[in-house]
This record gives sequence, C-alpha cells and structure tokens, in this order.
Amino acid sequence: MLSYVSTRGRAPRLGFADTTLAGLANDGGLYVPDICPKLSEAELGNMSSQNYLEIAWRVLLPFVADDIPSEDLIRILQKSYKTFNTKEVAPLHELKTNFYVQELFHGPTLAFKDVALQFLGNLFDYILEKKKTRVTIVGATSGDTGSAAIEAFRGKDTADIFILHPHNRVSEVQRRQMTTVLDANVHNIAIDGSFDDCQDLVKAMFNDATFRDDLRLSAVNSINWARILAQVVYYIYAGVRVLDKTGRPATFCVPTGNFGNVYAGYVAQSMGLSVEKFLVATNRNDILHRFFSTGRMKADGVERSLSPSMDIQVSSNFERLLFDLFGRKGEAVDQTMQHFRKAGPFHLEDGVMNPLRRLFGSGKVDDARTLAVIKSTYEKYNYILDPHTAVGVGVAEDYQAANPDSVIVSLATAHPAKFPAAVKQAIGIEPPLPDHLADLYQRQERYQVLPNDLAKVQAFVRAGIRK
Ligand SMILES: *Cc1c(COP(=O)(O)O)cnc(C)c1O
Repeated sequence: MLSYVSTRGRAPRLGFADTTLAGLANDGGLYVPDICPKLSEAELGNMSSQNYLEIAWRVLLPFVADDIPSEDLIRILQKSYKTFNTKEVAPLHELKTNFYVQELFHGPTLAFKDVALQFLGNLFDYILEKKKTRVTIVGATSGDTGSAAIEAFRGKDTADIFILHPHNRVSEVQRRQMTTVLDANVHNIAIDGSFDDCQDLVKAMFNDATFRDDLRLSAVNSINWARILAQVVYYIYAGVRVLDKTGRPATFCVPTGNFGNVYAGYVAQSMGLSVEKFLVATNRNDILHRFFSTGRMKADGVERSLSPSMDIQVSSNFERLLFDLFGRKGEAVDQTMQHFRKAGPFHLEDGVMNPLRRLFGSGKVDDARTLAVIKSTYEKYNYILDPHTAVGVGVAEDYQAANPDSVIVSLATAHPAKFPAAVKQAIGIEPPLPDHLADLYQRQERYQVLPNDLAKVQAFVRAGIRK
C-alpha cells in the first residue's frame, strides 16, 4: 500500500493522515509518496467529459489509500469546493486560439491557494475528529496565505487558528479578508514589525517544546503534501480538455514562488498526463529562472515587486523535485540542502539538467513588463489580469512566439480585484470585487495589535484557545 517517505530519508514512513498532520518531516525533509499512482490512457481520455469533482475523486483516491474511505473522500471534496462561485472550480478561459488562461481564483479569498486550503481545512477536520483531538494552527502571512487559511478553518470545532501579519504592511483588501472573519476560533494578530518578524515569532513558538506540545501546535504551510495533492487535480482537468479539443498536450505556464504549484503539475505528469512543457514564470526575484537557465541554484536578497506572493528567495518545494533528480536518494538531498543553507549555491551537472530542460522552461517578467502585459491583454482581449497572472502570461507569450505550435494553459493565480493598485496603474480601472466580497469595506473588523515580543504573543495565544 502507498505510504509517504521524507526527501531526506531519515524520518519515519507515514500513512496519508499522519503525513497531512505532520506537514514537515522530522528530519527537515518533505513528504512524498513512495510510488506515484498512474492513470491509464483510457481513464485520462474519459476525464475530458467528467466534471471537476469526479476528476478530483479519481485522482486523489489512490493517494489517500486506506485512511479515507471512498464515500468520505467524496463528501470532503464536495464540502471543499461548494465554497467556489463556479461548479467548474478551475474553468478555462480562451484568450485567443491555442492560448488559455485557467482561472484558479473562484474560491472565497480570490487566490489559487483556496483550491488547496479549502480541501486541507476539511481534511484536517475529518482526521482530527476521527482521532478525537484538536490543534492550534499558527502561521505568519504577508497577505494571501493568511486569508486562505482563515477561510479554510473558520468555524471548525477541531482547530483554533492564529495568523500573524505585519501591522500596516499588508494591503487593505488583504487585511480585511482576514480581519472581517469573526468566528470564535479565528484570531488575527497584527505585529508591530515586518513579515520576517512574524515568521520568526511563529518559528520561536514551534521551537518552544512545552508551548508546542501543550497547545498541539500545527502549521498548514505550502510544503504540506495534501496541499500539493489538491492542486494536481486542476492540471489534469485542464490537460485532458485541451488535448481533447486541440489534439496537443498543453504547455502549462505557472507564476511561481515556492514551487508548490508547478510541482503539482509535475505530479500530474508523473501520473500519466501528457504535458508538452512546464514554464516556470518568475518576477524580478528570478532564482528559479536563473537555475533552469544555468543549472546553478543561488539565493539573492528578495526585492519587492508588483506580484508580492512570488517575492521569494528559496523555493521550499523544489526539494521534492530534487529528490527525483537524485534518484530518490534522501542522503544526497540532505547533503545538498545542508550545503545550500550553510555554504551557499549548488550546481547540477548537464547530465541532470538536460533531461530536466526537456520538461521545464522558464522566464522572467519585471514590473514594467507586468504592467504592459495587463494593459495589452485588456486592450486586445478585454480581459483583466492580476499582476501574478500577468507574469505568467508574459512568459507564455514569449514561449509561444518561439514555439508557434504550442497550446498554452497559463495559470491565473489571483483575481485582479485582489491587487487593485497594480491593475489601476496599468489600465486606469479598479476591478470590482465579486459579489460575495462586494461589502468587504463595510464589514466589521477584529484584530489585536501586539508588539514584536514572543512572551506577549504566546500569552495571547494561550488565552485565546478554546478549552
Ligand atoms: C502563492 C502564490 C503564488 C506562488 O505559488 P507557489 O505555489 O508558491 O509557487 C503565485 N501567485 C499567487 C497569487 C499566490 O498567492
């Protein structure tokens, strides 16, 4: 039966439920399935006429193995995606012939993280209820992840959630998406400090063993395997439809930060989906573009851009791909990652990079070009892109110009109304919020401002959990 192993090779093998609750492996690695389940060509062919939930159920079933009975998995999926404002969940929008935008922003917080976190919230709830236990979720956010996590866990009896954001340093839409959620188990903390301060506070809470165990702390960050798994589904949903319609495998273009999204595409391909290429799209923080161009992984400082959710230095999920590149030898991954942390850059040989480049391409779009892409797309196709999606569309347009036969699926990772300032700068229009958030600016907010002080934050968390 399928089980999960750590990319560093020293953590215990776990089943699906324990992998989900663990998040990070205790040897510092990330969990991956020991074998990748396959879909037959016939099954994939049938999927072009199946709806999103049917595909999700079929794709996820082998991964959850014996931990979730089939009927329960269906119920969890139904519950997770009924919060989306379209039954299709991740619809394809044809921008022009052989160029699709896949809209992943129809969830409650208008960003693609909802696809994974809505599922993760219900999954945690299901597993914890079975185990008759509860957790305290603690996380730091610079914007998108916090609101998606809060929406995923609001009102759940099995979890209290505390999200730290830097006071006055997130946009008003982002803050209100978090602070207007008034459920009793939701706690927003605005820290007088930076996002890094928030992250350091969260780390320190996890490193305090007494605190961690007393409160049963848990995290839902982007390395959680179940988040990746939920994202595999939309690649298959889009890939089989595009193949059916055009007769060609899709080239997926993915606005990339932590590499979680594009790695999910790689899993879809490993399961049997035909894919022409994955394009890793970066903004000015281009560590991954430089890596795919040169084979050298070297971190630089992070600079602010118009696509803040991609302002990332080290892409944690890349380690999962590295595990496969190293022939699934945990020891080799461990050595490379230790070296990367302590000493700095690593370099992969052509023998490894050349096959990798057959499947992955990359590109970079700076802020000026991001604005130009939003403008030209609006003028030509009357369609408004958010700045993250625009980075992807820019990279995809370059690729298609050089590869005219390609069929593009460019992932739209956020709704334009989530980043109104950048959109306004590009086209002079502020995109309206969708109906379910139309009154966001009138809603009541609740949050606690706290100093950058571990003891004070811990005291607040202790006092806030439901006994
Ligand atoms: C998180 C995020 C990304 C980056 O996704 P990764 O999985 O970290 O690569 C891109 N766009 C938006 C809008 C996001 O919120």
